[in-house]
Amino acid sequence: MVGLCPGSFDPITNGHLDIIERAVTLVDELVIGIAINTAKAPLFPLAERIQMIESEVHEISQRAETKIRVDSFDNLLVEFAASIGARIIIRGLRAVADFEYEFQMVGMNRILDPSVETVFLMAGAKHQAISSRLVKEIAIMGGDVSRFVPPGIKQRLLERVAEVRKS
Ligand code: ADP
Repeated sequence: MVGLCPGSFDPITNGHLDIIERAVTLVDELVIGIAINTAKAPLFPLAERIQMIESEVHEISQRAETKIRVDSFDNLLVEFAASIGARIIIRGLRAVADFEYEFQMVGMNRILDPSVETVFLMAGAKHQAISSRLVKEIAIMGGDVSRFVPPGIKQRLLERVAEVRKS
């Protein structure tokens, strides 16, 4: 069974990695789908987000012996899921803030394509507060993001923030 983990991953955080690590135990192949949202200006270009995810999930994939593939999409989530043969969408759920949005999305997606099921994994206690948006804000303000992202991502974040400052 193919599972799909969709999101912006701008950048990938320890919260995402926790969900991915658990998702690989549920499926035979996991596709991490980066949603290209033209309305949101990402900090990292798509190619770099793909590269960052690939390097961070390599070990998880080997450990679980589950194939993980990173892809991107700019069409409807359910259409993308169908195009890659995924019948299950896996999302992380943090406290109550995510609930309303996710509830609406599931409802709409079910109407669009009832054959795709969405499952939610509760964010781990340590990762409840982590979001890519806040990690970016902390990095831009010069704060320490070590507890929120892996070392390689922290390094890229610091470099990217410096690059954006210069331009
Ligand atoms: P979105 O822009 O749709 O929120 P994100 O890249 O922020 O996409 O997140 C992708 C997925 O990872 C979503 O299902 C989101 O709920 C989940 N996620 C993000 N951060 C965390 C976290 N700290 N713990 C658990 N799940 C998370």
